[in-house]
Amino acid sequence: MDRAEPGLSLKHRLCFYLGGILFATVSYILGLWLYAVECASWGDAETYRKIVDSLTGGFRSHQLTFFAWEIFCVAIALLLGSFFQKEVMNRRRAEEQANIDGLTGVYNHRFFQERLTAEIERANRFRRVLSIIMLDIDNFKHYNDTWGHQAGDKLLVLFAALCGQCIRSIDFLARYGGEEFIIILPETTETEAFNVAERIRQTTERETEAALGPGKGTTVSAGIACYPKHGFTRHALILSADAALYSAKRSGKNRTCIYESDQHRPYRAASSHVKSIVSEEDLEAIEALSAAVDAQTTCYNGHSSAVSNHAVLLGERLGLSPSELGSLRVAAMLHDIGTLGTPREILEKCTPLLQDEWKLIERHPGLGSRILARLQEMPAIGPAVRHHHERYDGKGYPNGLAGKEIPLFARIIAIADAYDAMTHPRPYRPALSQTEAIQELRRCAGTQFDPDLVEEFIAALEEHSAVDEEAA
Ligand code: GH3
Ligand code: MG
Ligand code: MG
Repeated sequence: MDRAEPGLSLKHRLCFYLGGILFATVSYILGLWLYAVECASWGDAETYRKIVDSLTGGFRSHQLTFFAWEIFCVAIALLLGSFFQKEVMNRRRAEEQANIDGLTGVYNHRFFQERLTAEIERANRFRRVLSIIMLDIDNFKHYNDTWGHQAGDKLLVLFAALCGQCIRSIDFLARYGGEEFIIILPETTETEAFNVAERIRQTTERETEAALGPGKGTTVSAGIACYPKHGFTRHALILSADAALYSAKRSGKNRTCIYESDQHRPYRAASSHVKSIVSEEDLEAIEALSAAVDAQTTCYNGHSSAVSNHAVLLGERLGLSPSELGSLRVAAMLHDIGTLGTPREILEKCTPLLQDEWKLIERHPGLGSRILARLQEMPAIGPAVRHHHERYDGKGYPNGLAGKEIPLFARIIAIADAYDAMTHPRPYRPALSQTEAIQELRRCAGTQFDPDLVEEFIAALEEHSAVDEEAA
């Protein structure tokens, strides 16, 4: 882990000291000279003689005064230096605090994302490798249920400390979210990272029980991805580590897996984000509801989960936290839930809709948000569903909101929804290619869609396509 540097260096302190002496000397000479000038008027020889006398004689006869003045100036300079040093330290501490997870004291998710981007750039520039290890405590929900939330917190703190003991000072440990941690290991191959992960896994198994008491120990699963082998970008690398972790979980937990290209990335990302906010049973219910929505018409087949994949792709690019991504995914999976109240013949109609039929269609976002208002633990979902048909220029429905007034999740879902609809056939037109759909999104940026989000979405799509090509 990084350690904070001490405040001012010796070099800076020396600079303040020399600065004090220089200031004392210059100001003393200047003072004497001004005194001499005051004693005589400008221009006559007497004045110059007095000046020279006061400078040379002054030095000899006023050595003590000069010495005292010098000490005074150096003291002031050093005082200023220490004040400056404190300010620097305070600022550095505040910056560090903003990057640190409050519970465990390791770095937080946001700072991890920044750091990984920088480390990948560095590895790329110097043609080096780097690895990341994603760690997830096994059965932590059960641990909380058995021993209580406070004991769960204690375990998280202990686990973070154990991880810190198993890594080098140049490695970077962060809490990814909930009971998931992540480590960046610069200049480390997958095999070396595997050894580190195994050390953490074995230490966890041994030390948590010893420190917390019988039955209170835990185990951990780890997934490893290596740059550039398993992904060229931050997004790709995280997804690869996530997929490897999922593989470790599926093959029995308490183990370490290195990413293999046949491990399926999007699904693991989907379940992990949602699991950070809803239980497994609730997730099943949400998936069933979303399948019920899609089953209404043949052209909706798989639409809700595709929209949720696209929405999360964009959400990840925007750096949303795991719990925000969880909410976004649920909102996207259920964005059309209000269509359960729309007559099927209207949903399936191939000819243009009549005005009254449009009115019925336009009711679905409001109805959907009213249904979802019951999910009180996910307050962001209702507004996301309600406003996913608003337009950036204010001409959408149901409320005619414009620009950034439209909730962020709703702006994201609008793009994901439109992109999926464009790239699949509809009774009234064939499917567009990815390039054509991107052109159409750009054409409607600023009128129908948030233009900044459109560009981010396109960049995320291109990045993801590059990842798929790498894996192929
Ligand atoms: P798996 O082995 O598959 O990882 O299962 P799990 O139970 O560990 O994972 P799951 O994602 O189902 O549950 C994670 C739990 O972590 C749910 C949540 O309540 C808990 N959790 C998240 N953050 C905190 C926290 O800060 N403190 C405590 N005590 N619990 C937390
Ligand atoms: Mg988890
Ligand atoms: Mg877990």
